[in-house]
Amino acid sequence: MSRMLKRYHIEMTRAALAPHFSARALEIIVAANLKQDSLRNQFGHDEIHYDNNAFDKGDRYIIEQRGYLLATLLSPGILGAWIAFGRLLHTAQDFYAHSNYVTLWLDQYDGAPPPPPEIEPLKKELIKSPSLRSGKIYFPLDALYFFKPLRPLILKFLPKDSHGWMNLDEPAQGPKFPYAISAATKRTAHEFDLLRKILTPEMLARFVDK
Ligand SMILES: [Zn+2]
Repeated sequence: MSRMLKRYHIEMTRAALAPHFSARALEIIVAANLKQDSLRNQFGHDEIHYDNNAFDKGDRYIIEQRGYLLATLLSPGILGAWIAFGRLLHTAQDFYAHSNYVTLWLDQYDGAPPPPPEIEPLKKELIKSPSLRSGKIYFPLDALYFFKPLRPLILKFLPKDSHGWMNLDEPAQGPKFPYAISAATKRTAHEFDLLRKILTPEMLARFVDK
């Protein structure tokens, strides 16, 4: 039960991928990304959004979707590859909005951190840090949190380890938000780079559809 605003998933995905993919491929990738926040994907799917400290499950979800992507490209199909890519990008982007990765990265700099474009999205000691956490979902409080007028009241009832307190889903969450956007955009580019290294030239050409 948590979502980064649609707008940011769209912007980050486009910023990282528009130079590489055809317009129709990008449209399907973005649509599959956004569909991950549909109501039926909000309940009982911590792995899709890295909620509730589901780091192993989230990592596995990304690997599985990469597997579907490859399986599709090994067949004559293509649609499934774009959908799987959109799905895994959503999860990869949510990692930075729902975990304390940005906080851990900033904490390295003792109050004088570099600006958001400098953030490294996959710093090993942070990804593997025992201090890595993601927001816990408390029902029904975290559902009520989404009614903006109630938010200040609901936050008083929510523990500090909740999604409500921890999320970087939108600019109102403060100065850490641009770091989450920068890290997630870089991670999106990284996910494409990975595929560029793995796929055969023929598969890659079909995948980017250009
Ligand atoms: Zn999400």
